[in-house]
Amino acid sequence: MKLTRLFFLAVFLCTSVTYSQNKIAVIGGGIAGVSAAHYLHEYDAGAHITLFEKEAILGGNAQTVEVTTTSGKKCMIDIGPQYFTEGPWDDYLAFLEQTIGMNTIRTESMAGTLLVQREAENIPLIVTPLNGKFRGEKLGKLLKLKKFNTAAYKVYKNPEQWKAISVQQWVEQLHFTEQYKQEIIYPFLAASLGTTVQDIRKTSVVEIVSLFAFRKPKASNSFRIMQDGMGGLIQQIGAKLEKDGVKIKTNSPVQSVKKHEKGYTIYYSENGKTSSIEVDFVVMAVHADIAAKLVKEDPYFGMATMTLEQLPYFEAHIVLHQDTNYINVEKPAFLNIFTNSENELTFSTMNLSLISPRLEGIYKSWMSGEDTQRVKEKGLLLHETTFYHPLITPEFVAHLQELKALSGKLEGVCIIGGWTEGLETQNSAVVSAKRAVEVYKNWK
Ligand SMILES: Cc1cc2nc3c(=O)[nH]c(=O)nc-3n(C[C@H](O)[C@H](O)[C@H](O)COP(=O)(O)OP(=O)(O)OC[C@H]3O[C@@H](n4cnc5c(N)ncnc54)[C@H](O)[C@@H]3O)c2cc1C
Repeated sequence: MKLTRLFFLAVFLCTSVTYSQNKIAVIGGGIAGVSAAHYLHEYDAGAHITLFEKEAILGGNAQTVEVTTTSGKKCMIDIGPQYFTEGPWDDYLAFLEQTIGMNTIRTESMAGTLLVQREAENIPLIVTPLNGKFRGEKLGKLLKLKKFNTAAYKVYKNPEQWKAISVQQWVEQLHFTEQYKQEIIYPFLAASLGTTVQDIRKTSVVEIVSLFAFRKPKASNSFRIMQDGMGGLIQQIGAKLEKDGVKIKTNSPVQSVKKHEKGYTIYYSENGKTSSIEVDFVVMAVHADIAAKLVKEDPYFGMATMTLEQLPYFEAHIVLHQDTNYINVEKPAFLNIFTNSENELTFSTMNLSLISPRLEGIYKSWMSGEDTQRVKEKGLLLHETTFYHPLITPEFVAHLQELKALSGKLEGVCIIGGWTEGLETQNSAVVSAKRAVEVYKNWK
């Protein structure tokens, strides 16, 4: 008995060696900030961690909203990020397993079927088969899509090789007719990210291909979603972190971060007043444009600010609605892409009923302000949100390398977030959080 006690005491002393009294600030309560707080607490349970979130709730882009349909039905829907699949999202899934346990999470699957159609015409340019059933589309076009999937899978499997290559450079060397590239491939890729064809040409091919999570071409092409929403899960994890002793300050936007001899001062707003705290280590889990603003006044961050300011963002306006004008009702496909005569995307719409009967008659569109207004006037709008999304071009990836080299010199600071991994997903945000722990270990 005595020996067992001694053994536990020895184990306790060995493991507690890494504990400290360090004060850590995590700025940003999206999946990156929340998972960084979790991994830092796991590594150093003695550290005093405070997480600052600008909004009233945690989640960041991951926003699960409750909508009430015209027939009075209430549903929880992710208006921002919604899908994941095994493989590309394994770090994210492992994080959920470790914090709230996957067995408590209800998921739903869907087949990633696709329709591309000109806005002014009724006949689609292409519709992929639903549930494996061939529905009389031109076989040649469908086979080309399979060939496209095979090429995309190669990029997904060897991301390092393709990081410096833009979508345009990649598409140019694919063996398809120019017409097929312009009519189908570019609008499809632009719709996958929710931006214009012009933007998508400049994007890094790795970002877009991995975002759409191409799997082995022969595997069934199914994506999954969380029934309770990706945003809802982050809030559950936040509650668990608070129980573990992490201080979570919502409604508390950080205004600036300033370096001094002994560490950092974090200035933030709380109940309309400016407050500050002193910390030893800072994790910035906000987007590049915000990080740039937070450190702008401080000469120590000068070089990092310049790099951060060069990273481009675009606006993605997303609407949940019940207007059937934005899908093809006769040819049901999950992703409905509508283009104009110049093959530019006019809007794209996910038919959520193809995920679950629970979401019958509800659509999620990337659309202009004018279209949103039309939907609103018909009384069919359920929810709208504008997101700012990084446009991860090969130049963006090069700037990130500079930033990572620089952050080695910015002692006691780590810049993380989905975007810092050169591809923006919930998974890349978790990967970046693990990097924060590595930086912390080296600093400590
Ligand atoms: C429309 C859309 C669809 C997407 N679809 C998917 C998908 O299906 N699957 C997927 O995996 N990914 C998807 N993504 C990407 C995913 O949303 C991001 O990769 C992820 O949210 C990044 O997490 P993050 O924590 O780095 O950033 P964010 O989620 O942006 O979190 C940053 C947080 O910082 C807070 N903040 C900002 N300024 C301050 C301040 N001054 N002080 C304190 N806090 C501040 C913000 O309020 C926010 O909570 C999608 C993104 C968008 C926009």
